[in-house]
Amino acid sequence: MRVINFNPGPAGLPLPALERAREELLDFQATGMSVMEHSHRGKDYEAVHDEAISLLTQLVGLPSSHQVLFLTGGASQQFAQVPMNYLTPGTSADYLMTGVWSEKALDEAKYYGTPRVAATTVQPDKHYTRVPRQDELNLDPKAAYVHITTNNTIYGTQWHTFPDVGGVPLVADMSSDFLWKKMDLSRFALTYAGAQKNLGPSGVTLVVAAKDFIARGRKDIPKIFRYSIHAENNSLYNTPPTLAIYLVRNVLAWMKDVGGLAQVEAWNRQKADLLYGALDKHSGFYRAPVERESRSVMNVVFHLPTPELDAAFVADAKQQGMVGLKGHRTAGGIRVSTYNAVTVENVRTLVTFMEHFMKTRG
Ligand SMILES: *Cc1c(COP(=O)(O)O)cnc(C)c1O
Repeated sequence: MRVINFNPGPAGLPLPALERAREELLDFQATGMSVMEHSHRGKDYEAVHDEAISLLTQLVGLPSSHQVLFLTGGASQQFAQVPMNYLTPGTSADYLMTGVWSEKALDEAKYYGTPRVAATTVQPDKHYTRVPRQDELNLDPKAAYVHITTNNTIYGTQWHTFPDVGGVPLVADMSSDFLWKKMDLSRFALTYAGAQKNLGPSGVTLVVAAKDFIARGRKDIPKIFRYSIHAENNSLYNTPPTLAIYLVRNVLAWMKDVGGLAQVEAWNRQKADLLYGALDKHSGFYRAPVERESRSVMNVVFHLPTPELDAAFVADAKQQGMVGLKGHRTAGGIRVSTYNAVTVENVRTLVTFMEHFMKTRG
């Protein structure tokens, strides 16, 4: 029996993508071995690799100015790899601070240059409940890039309109909202996302970057960290995480089958409307700290009147087959992660549970 999985990451995967993997596990395409036992230089694996890139390109409508890369090391490696490629001692980049992950990204940049905080919505209690407004950005036109975190997985905030940063390259950590809807990735110089939230298992990081931005990266850093080396080699410079990329292929194929990103977005909006609708209706019991315009469609956070009730909520939900609802340790409370693989039906089940819990325990 599979549970209803609201895990924040690694997160649930669409069942058809897993079933396809099960069917193909021992004998991939009548080759007598699993996909992970194939050479990454052979035609059988390369077809999977290229199909994943082509599915992603089709789903987002990515223009030829941009390239898709499969890297490793998670978003955390990208926190370091971006400044490693684009900063030198004395040069700066602008960071827009919206949560724990932005703070980690900023810290890594300090090893390579002099990053600036160009906006922050941190509160005196160190938490964040919104993203900055355009008029709060203090941007440096000479910055090497501007870095944003499009969805703040821990605090449940999200940029619904991307900031206007003039002619400065915009770099985004999209780990927890990559492909939640059709998005114009060509306005970003570089976006990155660990696959384990919206796209697949952990082990592979998707990077989508402008070819001219890739070409501008530093050449005096080790080859393995240069975007240009991975781009020139179609992400086959060294052995890529073939099984993870295969699973990403399955997830992307599922997204295409169900109707593409328009359908995925419609489902995601329905799920968010159901949850925020319930929170607003019962705001005396369920308190949602995030300001309305910054509410995340992917991670919905709220608190019950006491930490004891938060814990009881998580425990009772588990009894009902719903897991992954405990808030992040820095934020507390409850967090419902409603990534692409979570169905509208799953969220309806949770909302029914929330109403029942309030009546019996409130
Ligand atoms: C999960 C997450 C990360 C960390 O990803 P790793 O793959 O574990 O390095 C970074 N940024 C955001 C926004 C995340 O949600």
